[in-house]
Amino acid sequence: MEVIVKRLEGVPLVTAYVFEVGGVRVVVDPGPASLFEPMDVDAVLCTHIHLDHCGSAGHLGKPTYVHERYTRHVADPSKLYESSRAVLGVFAEKFGQPRPNEAVMGVADGTRLFDAVDAIHTPGHAPHHVMYYYRDEKALFVGDGAGVHIPELGVVVPTTPPPFKLDVYLQSLDKVRGLDVEKICFPHYHCTHNVEILERHREQVRAWVEVLQQNPHMDVEEALRALAKADENVEKVLAAGGLYLDFYLRFSVLGFLDYLRGRG
Ligand SMILES: [Zn+2]
Repeated sequence: MEVIVKRLEGVPLVTAYVFEVGGVRVVVDPGPASLFEPMDVDAVLCTHIHLDHCGSAGHLGKPTYVHERYTRHVADPSKLYESSRAVLGVFAEKFGQPRPNEAVMGVADGTRLFDAVDAIHTPGHAPHHVMYYYRDEKALFVGDGAGVHIPELGVVVPTTPPPFKLDVYLQSLDKVRGLDVEKICFPHYHCTHNVEILERHREQVRAWVEVLQQNPHMDVEEALRALAKADENVEKVLAAGGLYLDFYLRFSVLGFLDYLRGRG
């Protein structure tokens, strides 16, 4: 399996994976439009349609597989781009505008692609999220459904931007629990053989709820300080700052707070 790291302003943004199944060269999550480079592939698998993952699929011009209910946002990405700008602000512009992509194919839950890759609808991170299980390598491409894994810091933090639904996130993790997995591959970032990471992430999500439900009306900065005391992953990302803090961690904390406020 070929591993391609795409960097934004020098910082790793997405790890794309290329492999061959039954004579078809496949890339999982080719990255944003702004970081497009030609790739020798026949098909594109998108774990979800967010700009940082699937934004360059239209540039590649190959059959592109996404969640069956969201193909129209890939065929015509104008609405997706506008709503991304509203939510992500400057990051949407840094990721660039996707090209219309008529080669989009809808993937149903449980579909087996190329006789080797199972699609698993896992709407925890976003309703259009799909994980892919590549049987031959016992590899699970988790997309943003199991946190952001940052090997250089040795951390995992949740990927739970608003609108976050705790139950759906946990159910999505449950759905892949029984799979025979030897390798977990994250778009943010890299593969790991430490498959226990999924269970630890689940416990982390529970721990965050416990900390934040004590006062869901605190602001994001207060929430970060409270979480850092309970979770050393948060402490490390706070210390590192930059994209890891501003793009992933802040949005994830906001998702939790929004969710907990809605319940209160
Ligand atoms: Zn992402």
